[in-house]
Amino acid sequence: MRHYDSIKRVLVTGGAGFLGSHLCERLLADGNDVLCVDNYFTGRRANLAHLLNNPNFEVLRHDVTFPLYVEVDEIYNLACPAAPIHYQFDPVQTTKVSVHGAINVLGLAKRTKAKIFQASTSEVYGDPLVHPQREDYWGNVNPVGTRSCYDEGKRCAETLFFDYHRQYATRIKVARIFNTYGPRMHINDGRVVSNFVIQALRGEDITLYGDGTQTRSFCYVADLIEGIVRFMDAPAEIVGPMNLGNPVEFTIKQLAEMVIELVGTKSRLVYKPLPSDDPKQRQPDISLAKEMLAWEPTVALREGLAKTIAYFDKVLRNDAPPARKSPTI
Ligand code: NAD
Ligand code: UDP
Ligand code: UDP
Repeated sequence: MRHYDSIKRVLVTGGAGFLGSHLCERLLADGNDVLCVDNYFTGRRANLAHLLNNPNFEVLRHDVTFPLYVEVDEIYNLACPAAPIHYQFDPVQTTKVSVHGAINVLGLAKRTKAKIFQASTSEVYGDPLVHPQREDYWGNVNPVGTRSCYDEGKRCAETLFFDYHRQYATRIKVARIFNTYGPRMHINDGRVVSNFVIQALRGEDITLYGDGTQTRSFCYVADLIEGIVRFMDAPAEIVGPMNLGNPVEFTIKQLAEMVIELVGTKSRLVYKPLPSDDPKQRQPDISLAKEMLAWEPTVALREGLAKTIAYFDKVLRNDAPPARKSPTI
């Protein structure tokens, strides 16, 4: 059903989360009518507080594993816990969110003929045997490990997106997002950037898992949101999968040392056991995004970390609303 108005109606699932809240903010700034849907598993209303007075913004508490009937022109599907401790908290639910959630939003896209974006992940490459990772690499994923609920859930969601595209001509955009960080990360999500920054600000030990030689490539949130929006606006034949991330690779030890230097803390490095199936290396090949979207990250790790440190410093001083201690539904 078309809207009588020309304003674009955009649905963001998982809109109260870290990436979702930045995306809602950007879409509103671009003049869209934004409906945020979230069950607040890891998202927080505080992430959206500054948007609630905008007449083009609406928030609905809803679990995407259940059907949703709304009329929209575009859908960004971000609903899914992203941090290992969050998605391993209730792994069965994690697979359901990825798979049942994808079926419902794809059914919605099919009925409304909406264009639909899927937040897939570099985890579809598992512990990659090819480096850096290009989109044509099929990955090295353990189907029965503790990360599998997330990795295989996201892989199945990709399958569903491409089958809806082939079978029903649904207009899809599938992005494989690599490690992204920045303000509004959950304070207790256990991901490496938030952990290190909070530990450094509190003067606590910095917990390196394993020997710290494993690598990740960190993208600042503003760069990622720009890539997501450009992808959605790209011509219909550009469906992905497309890597979105910052290709500059760091060891986890280098990250820890940079955080210590920027915070100016006396924190020491301590070594803890490596979690199971922890990928040894991860670096996106973003040639496709560069060519198709004329996009590449512009914020260096040092610069993005400084902004993230300033955010968490404020949170820890209680100037910003405090986060919950553990995930709850
Ligand atoms: P996040 O945990 O902050 O956000 C996820 C949001 O989804 C939360 O607001 C949560 O409450 C919501 N949610 C979870 N289950 C839901 C359900 N059943 N129904 C409705 N809402 C639900 O994580 P994030 O980092 O913002 O990640 C957003 C998306 O991007 C996820 O799909 C994630 O897999 C993907 N992604 C993120 C990264 C990253 O580095 N941040 C990397 C790769 C992929
Ligand atoms: N669905 C939804 N909103 C809609 C349309 C569909 O949530 O606006 C759900 C619906 O409940 C169904 C799923 O999406 O379970 C897949 O829909 P589809 O039409 O592809 O499949 P079918 O209904 O034929 O099983
Ligand atoms: N890590 C770490 N210390 C921490 C948290 C994470 O050394 O306090 C490591 C983790 O083992 C992994 C990397 O940092 O090798 C990135 O972890 P994160 O959970 O942020 O994301 P992943 O890319 O593993 O999903």
